[in-house]
Amino acid sequence: MKRILITGAAGFLGSHLCDRFNTEGFHVIGMDNLITGDLKNIQHLFHLENFEFHHHDITNFIHIAGDLDYILHFASPASPIDYLKIPIQTLKVGSLGTHNLLGLARAKNARILIASTSEVYGDPLVHPQTEEYYGNVNAIGPRGVYDEAKRFQESLTMAYHTFHGLETRIVRIFNTYGPRMRLNDGRVIPAFMGQALRGEDLTIFGDGNQTRSFCYIDDQVEGIYRLLFSDYHLPVNIGNPDEITINEFAQEILKLTETNNKIVYHPLPINDPLQRQPDITKAKDILGWEPKVGRTEGMQITYNYFKTLSPEELKKEEH
Ligand code: NAD
Ligand code: UDP
Repeated sequence: MKRILITGAAGFLGSHLCDRFNTEGFHVIGMDNLITGDLKNIQHLFHLENFEFHHHDITNFIHIAGDLDYILHFASPASPIDYLKIPIQTLKVGSLGTHNLLGLARAKNARILIASTSEVYGDPLVHPQTEEYYGNVNAIGPRGVYDEAKRFQESLTMAYHTFHGLETRIVRIFNTYGPRMRLNDGRVIPAFMGQALRGEDLTIFGDGNQTRSFCYIDDQVEGIYRLLFSDYHLPVNIGNPDEITINEFAQEILKLTETNNKIVYHPLPINDPLQRQPDITKAKDILGWEPKVGRTEGMQITYNYFKTLSPEELKKEEH
């Protein structure tokens, strides 16, 4: 049985990856320090013989007994309010954490896939974003802690590939959504869901003309799965190219939730990208991958998930 280490296992993406690799018959070792994750996302796996959980901060030395065939490195705060609240941990997990994992991969002769992000393109001047675009990032702006950590992570990973011949894969993930997103993580989908369910105004930042392209979690997991088993070591965008303005998206949420809540406008956060859309030509050509779940279906499933939260869980957290 192949053994895989998944960091960030108690988070949104990591927990879905634990499920997928468990279903595929792997021995899954989940690792997380629970800084933004929640054990409830993986508690259904705890009774399984082929699942183990290590509560560990990956910026410290990582010890895994026995063989390891694959590593998926997904540990990192991922929402703007998280990485603004814990900027130094964000820089450390992308740099020191990634270094530890690359060293572990080398020691175990394991293949490693790291989670990068569309944020490496910053506020992009090229649209849609291809993997060749170098990006437009403000290193010292508030989002710089995340963007630069991820850019350093890619650079370090490529160096291990080039100088040590390590088997590496880099996925550049574009906005992904679905069940198990944290209600209070400040990202636009949980924010709008929480507001709709509590009967509050929907908050749009800026004039709402900025765009995003939202990918459903099952599509994202499939793309990552295919990339891991491909023989392509350069970065690959995985996302859904269906682009929408935040204004249009807010209207879709009102329709989906059958609510008449007002929309209120707040200032746009500094360096918030004005447009974002993945060019997925590489994913199509190399992985034979493209998204299958449209926003109507994906958002319905996501809304059904948020509706199952208890009144206690639905409470708003002040940031
Ligand atoms: P998440 O916050 O739900 O999950 C991240 C997990 O990493 C959490 O469980 C957290 O506790 C854990 N973690 C953070 N620092 C750690 C440390 N030092 N040691 C051990 N565990 C640590 O976020 P997510 O949305 O699931 O994102 C997962 C990964 O995917 C991140 O690397 C993120 O940058 C990347 N990504 C996500 C998206 C998206 O749309 N969700 C987009 C681009 C990139
Ligand atoms: N956004 C918004 N209202 C909110 C939360 C976010 O209008 O309550 C906007 C945010 O400014 C950004 C977009 O929605 O332009 C997507 O934000 P998110 O934090 O989900 O993702 P990211 O900016 O990292 O792509």
